[in-house]
Amino acid sequence: MSSTAKIGRVSAPTLGLPIGAQISGLIFDLDGTLYLQPPVRRAILWRLLRAGSVRPISTWREWQVIRHYRRAQEHLRHRPEHSADAQLPLACEWSGEQPESAAKTIAHWMEDTPLETLARYVRPGVVDLLESAKKRGIRLGLVSDYPATKKLLALGLDTYFSVVVTAQDNRVGVFKPSPKGLILALADLGVELGSAVYIGDRPSVDGEAAQRAGVAGVILGQPLGRAGKGWIGVPDVPSLRDLLMI
Ligand SMILES: [Mg+2]
Repeated sequence: MSSTAKIGRVSAPTLGLPIGAQISGLIFDLDGTLYLQPPVRRAILWRLLRAGSVRPISTWREWQVIRHYRRAQEHLRHRPEHSADAQLPLACEWSGEQPESAAKTIAHWMEDTPLETLARYVRPGVVDLLESAKKRGIRLGLVSDYPATKKLLALGLDTYFSVVVTAQDNRVGVFKPSPKGLILALADLGVELGSAVYIGDRPSVDGEAAQRAGVAGVILGQPLGRAGKGWIGVPDVPSLRDLLMI
């Protein structure tokens, strides 16, 4: 084993991670993992502020819908008895907005507006990692809590993924940390749990989903060597490639 497959004094196999030729599948989270989320959020906020200077009252109402929609997702994550379909009704209940208008707000600000800036903020090293994985015959999947197809196209990464699973799919219907999407994606890819790695950006969401699915998890944006239940942290994609030896 090469010394590069180490985090601090701990090796990847010790951490339960497959490395190099042992890896036959990589599953990725989308938001905050394939692209950097803070600059995209700042760009959306800037557009909201500009809209607010022209039409302050309606923009304020739209902002309330967005805020409660995000809050509803975090609320539902830890209530597996509720389906992902409850996110919009809950946001409407909390914001006092009508469903039709709230759906338009979400489609505009959370689905379409980010597409304008996503390509600028692909996480550094992601394309090289996906290229390297593809050359090695590693199968690639994506599991997201939001619709993913348009975002992957905007990022220019759509051709890499053989399987895309989202919480809105009929077969899933729940948010992470439920392991359901991850398990389905692995089954669709035809990849064994022990030869897969799941890569995300949130320990309490992606790390826990990996642990519950029984898949090795890696969380980006963490200090090298930090670890939690079911995941280990790496600061960036080059460190991830070193660790996985791909
Ligand atoms: Mg994420």
